Amino acid sequence: MVFGLFGSKRELNHFILITLDSCRYDSFMAAQPRTIPKLVGGLDRVEKRYSYASWTAPSHYNLLTGLMPHSSPANVYASEYYKEDFLRYRDRLGVKDVEFKSMVPQLWLPKYLKGKGFETNAMVSLPVLNPATGVNKDFDTFKLMPKHNDMLAMLDEMEAHMKSRPSKGLKGDTPQFYLLNVGETHYPYALPDEPRGLWPQISGVNGVFKKLDEQVKDGELVSDNESGEFFDQDKLDQLRARQINTVKYLDEKVFPRLYDMVPKGTWITVTADHGELFGEMGYFGHGPILHDKCLEVPFLEGLVR
Ligand SMILES: [Zn+2]
Repeated sequence: MVFGLFGSKRELNHFILITLDSCRYDSFMAAQPRTIPKLVGGLDRVEKRYSYASWTAPSHYNLLTGLMPHSSPANVYASEYYKEDFLRYRDRLGVKDVEFKSMVPQLWLPKYLKGKGFETNAMVSLPVLNPATGVNKDFDTFKLMPKHNDMLAMLDEMEAHMKSRPSKGLKGDTPQFYLLNVGETHYPYALPDEPRGLWPQISGVNGVFKKLDEQVKDGELVSDNESGEFFDQDKLDQLRARQINTVKYLDEKVFPRLYDMVPKGTWITVTADHGELFGEMGYFGHGPILHDKCLEVPFLEGLVR
């Protein structure tokens, strides 16, 4: 039992699942983050894992079936790996027993968590995950953020959530699940205060919608390659450096606040939905790409304190 602020008698952990959109494993490591890896005791304990999918929508669907990016083990049946992976929810949720049969037939984590008494929340940055899509099932709250690259705004929302419903927010008795899909690490790898338009809009890369920060009602399916010329390697190198810079920013300016604001008994998982290509074999971005770097993602998780 966790006695948090305000005399909470919460029995289970809060569980916050964070996807750094498009953040490939080696970009995360090159940023040498110091705060984020505190969950596992240091950067050298961050795992390289593999996403089940190469782009945002299927990857998040899979995460919401409860399956984290995998470690690609040899000589193991997939079904055995799934069962073992699922048992990690004992630690994540702070329960003695988790039963895979409770996931059947929906195979849907939010539904399972609601059965355990959780309130389920999602804040997403990418319009392909907007609240009208199929991934918004069994969520109590689900929001497409107004800006595609502002994780601090998500923390503001979490704090507002706490204040408006003190019995239900992070400081209350009801365990909370949050999915946070973070967009700073997505093309064009811009910090929230960067002026728009410094880099071309790329519809295919930007997740089907013409403009990332347009409201869904204005979303428009467009063809790829409106950007004209493909980036040369110099530009691609700059873009990779920009992605690394966004990880540094998140590590220095955003995660310290997150780790401070959550109460004891909060489990946080940090990973990415897929990787990104920066010129390897002529590829840029993610999606219709078959390349290891499109699947390599960082993975780390643990109790904040
Ligand atoms: Zn994505």
